[in-house]
Amino acid sequence: MNQKEVIIIGGGLAGLTAAIHLAKNDLFVTLFEKETYPHHKVCGEYLSREVLPYMESLEIPVLEHNPKMIDKLFFSTHNGKYLENSLALGGLGISRYALDTILYRKAKEQGVVFKHEKVHSISYNDDLHEIQTSEGTYKASYVLGAYGKRAVLDNDLGREFFRKPSPWVAVKSHYHHESFPEYLVALHSFKGGYCGLSKTENEAVNVCYLATYESFKQHKNPEIFKESVLQRNPFLDRFFTEAEDLFDKPLTIAQVSFSQKSLVEDHVIMLGDAAGLIHPLCGNGMAMAIHSAKIASESLLKHLQLKTDRKDLEREYVAAWKTQFHRRMMVGKWLQKILLNESFTSISQSIITKMPFLLPAIIKQTHGHAIN
Ligand SMILES: Cc1cc2nc3c(=O)[nH]c(=O)nc-3n(C[C@H](O)[C@H](O)[C@H](O)COP(=O)(O)OP(=O)(O)OC[C@H]3O[C@@H](n4cnc5c(N)ncnc54)[C@H](O)[C@@H]3O)c2cc1C
Repeated sequence: MNQKEVIIIGGGLAGLTAAIHLAKNDLFVTLFEKETYPHHKVCGEYLSREVLPYMESLEIPVLEHNPKMIDKLFFSTHNGKYLENSLALGGLGISRYALDTILYRKAKEQGVVFKHEKVHSISYNDDLHEIQTSEGTYKASYVLGAYGKRAVLDNDLGREFFRKPSPWVAVKSHYHHESFPEYLVALHSFKGGYCGLSKTENEAVNVCYLATYESFKQHKNPEIFKESVLQRNPFLDRFFTEAEDLFDKPLTIAQVSFSQKSLVEDHVIMLGDAAGLIHPLCGNGMAMAIHSAKIASESLLKHLQLKTDRKDLEREYVAAWKTQFHRRMMVGKWLQKILLNESFTSISQSIITKMPFLLPAIIKQTHGHAIN
C-alpha cells in the first residue's frame, strides 16, 4: 500500500480513534485540533461498553484509568415518579478530560502529527483537498471531518442543517457527592429537558443537562435555571442540596442540533457528531463516534489496498454507516419526542414508570452489539 496522507479535522473521540486506527496501518495522519489537551467537554460521560473490544484491539488503555462500571439506570419524572432497572450491556463512567487525553497520548505514540490550529475552510480540486487554518494551508489526498456537532466549517461547506436553528442548550459541571453510587446512571427529567448524572474515574459526579432554549432563556443564568427549574424535580433538589460544585462555572453550549446531516460533503468523510448526533438520552453518541471512526478507517484502508474509485469508498462508507446507525438515530428521535415533548411527557413518562422494563428496552434499541 502506498503511504497516503490523511488529514483529520477535530481531535475528539471520532477523530482521535480514526487517527490511531489509520496510523497503526501505516498511513501518515495529521490531526488538526483547535484546543490543547486535556480539556473538559459538555458530555454526559457515559460510554457504552459496546466499543471496549474495539478499543482494546487498538491498545487504548481505557480500563487502566479507573472508569466506573455502570450497569443500572435510574429514571425520574419531574414530579418524582421513578424507575430503576439494569442496563443490558452497561457503560463506563469516564470524564472526557481523561478519555480524550488517553486517546491523544495513544495517537501521539502511533506517530500522528498534531497541529493545534483551527480549520477555517476546506476545498477539493484535482483529487486533492486543501485546508486553510489559522496558521497556513495544507494539502492531503483524504480528509476526515470529525469536528463535532456544529462548526463554522459546516457553513463553509454549505451544509443544510447549519441554516436551521436548533432549540437545545446543554450545561455540564462536576460535583462532589458523598454517596452517589458508582454503578448508576441517573436520568432526571424536568420541565423542558432532562439531566444525566454519573460518576467518573476521579470520583466526581458528572452532571450534564439538556434544556430547550425557550425554557432556559426565561432565567438569567444556569444557577437560577438550576434552582427554579431543575430543583423542582425532588431527586435533583436533593442532589444539588447535598453536593458541592467542583467547577468555577459550568460549561455551556448552544445550538445542539439533532438534524440529519450529509455523511460525505465535497469528498470529506464525516464521522462522529459531524455525521449526526443521536439524542444524548440514549447515552450512545460517544460509542457511535468511536464506531464511526472504525467504519471510516476500514473503508479507507480497503479503498487504498484495492485501489478502488473514490466514489466507491464514499458509497461504501455511507452504506456501512447507515446499516449501523440509521435505525438507532430514528429510535433516538422517537424517544426524545415521547419523553421530552411537552404535550406527551406526562402521559408517556407515567406509562414508562408503570412499566419499568420499557425504557431500558427502548434504550437498548439505540445501542449496538460489542464491536471488535
Ligand atoms: C448534553 C450532551 C450530553 C451527552 N451525553 C452523552 C453520554 O452520556 N454518552 C454518550 O455516549 N454520548 C453523549 N453525548 C454525545 C457525545 O458527547 C458526542 O456524540 C461525542 O462527543 C462525539 O464525539 P466527536 O469526536 O464526534 O465530537 P467532539 O468530541 O465534539 O470533538 C470534536 C472536536 O473537533 C474540534 N474542532 C471543532 N471545530 C474545529 C475546527 N474548525 N478546527 C479544528 N478543530 C475543531 C473540537 O475542539 C473538538 O475537540 C452527549 C452530548 C450532549 C450534547
